[in-house]
Amino acid sequence: MRGPNLEVVMSSSFHPPVRTLMGPGPSDVSPRVLAASARPTIGHLDPLFVGLMDDVKRLLQYAFQTSNELTIPLSAPGSAGMEAAFVNLLECGDKVIVCQNGVFGGRMKENVERCGATAAMVMDRWGDPVDPEKLEAAIKEHPDAKVVAFVHAETSTGVRSDAETLCRLAKDAGMLVIVDAVTSLVGIELKADEWGADVVYSGTQKCLSGLPGISPITFSDAAVSAISARTQKVQSWFLDMNLIMGYWGEGAKRSYHHTAPVNAVYAIHEALLMLEEEGLEASIARHKANHLKLAAGLSKLGLELAVDEAWRLPQLNAVRIPEGVDDATVRSRLLNEFDLEVGAGLGELAGKQWRIGLMGSSSNDVNINRCLSALEAVLGS
Ligand SMILES: *Cc1c(COP(=O)(O)O)cnc(C)c1O
Repeated sequence: MRGPNLEVVMSSSFHPPVRTLMGPGPSDVSPRVLAASARPTIGHLDPLFVGLMDDVKRLLQYAFQTSNELTIPLSAPGSAGMEAAFVNLLECGDKVIVCQNGVFGGRMKENVERCGATAAMVMDRWGDPVDPEKLEAAIKEHPDAKVVAFVHAETSTGVRSDAETLCRLAKDAGMLVIVDAVTSLVGIELKADEWGADVVYSGTQKCLSGLPGISPITFSDAAVSAISARTQKVQSWFLDMNLIMGYWGEGAKRSYHHTAPVNAVYAIHEALLMLEEEGLEASIARHKANHLKLAAGLSKLGLELAVDEAWRLPQLNAVRIPEGVDDATVRSRLLNEFDLEVGAGLGELAGKQWRIGLMGSSSNDVNINRCLSALEAVLGS
């Protein structure tokens, strides 16, 4: 019998190059955050780690602008935050109004249907924001809907929607609101409590610039009541907030539920400290100012942004690929000759747009200049 071939394959440590990450995430992780993640691993029920968990919760409340008690970093990426929002709020037979103007709204629909609930869709063109008038009409047509769900910052198209207005429409109708803030958190204004959002989830690898793989999420009191009032068990054991509250909840006994990704929690803690030092408003202002610098530079190169100025995301710039330019060739030259990653178009925008991210630590002058000179070199030769 032949065993595994041990002679031929000789693995060695992996040493990635230093790339400049200007795609839709992950964003550049600062040396300070990387250093935090390399500190000694301790037990996830060690009293010192429990103290760190409390501090992470407090800092996340600041980032989300919420006083929600149930504000935690889920041990899984943004997609799990999305799934946690739906599986906890929905029971079989519920109805949800889902607004879709890009890839991620489509994933929300998938999640709703997998909960045995039905999705009433509010559709907008890819590249446009969610139209509040269409949501208003859908709320009139489906007064029995339990939840309204939308994406604040559509990373697939680089479009911001008016989250404050969309939340108000849902609240006025007595519906719960789920907001995808994976790309919006700390890159543009987001006020969970003031706007009345019930479940807001994000990801650590976009504007927070922590290590990828964690999803900060927050639940309002109304959302927690809805979860407590369920008659059916949450279909996902891992994402069941009733169980997770025993691990992360205030005054909880911190009983074992799963093993937290200890070192990734060090990293998000450090990234959140950096946010606190910079200040949330200053972070948002930096994203905006750097977006304007990039946009001016792109325009000098004859490149156009694809989104209407009023709805552009400063942290994710959708750029039209000029006629006759080959998308894949340009991106692979940027990567191989300049160690620079920019994003490809997603779904129906594949081959038509690039997505240039200026998220978190990636949003700085050096990156902007590097990106502009690399594009100039590649497009000019
Ligand atoms: C990136 C992203 C997600 C998914 O996050 P992952 O960490 O990749 O799982 C969800 N929604 C939006 C809007 C995103 O940009």
